[in-house]
Amino acid sequence: MKIPYELKYKGKGLRKCRICGNSRAVIRSYKQYICRRCFREHAKELGFSKYS
Ligand SMILES: [Zn+2]
Repeated sequence: MKIPYELKYKGKGLRKCRICGNSRAVIRSYKQYICRRCFREHAKELGFSKYS
């Protein structure tokens, strides 16, 4: 049984920002992986007006 790469390493070790692809300082919130930088930049778009 073949396991796709993304599924195999899902979770730990595969924390990439879904916006810029950066794997550093990525936080998980609301089921989304977003780095801190993008989080702040896209806060309004994503509905996080709290951090804008
Ligand atoms: Zn990012």
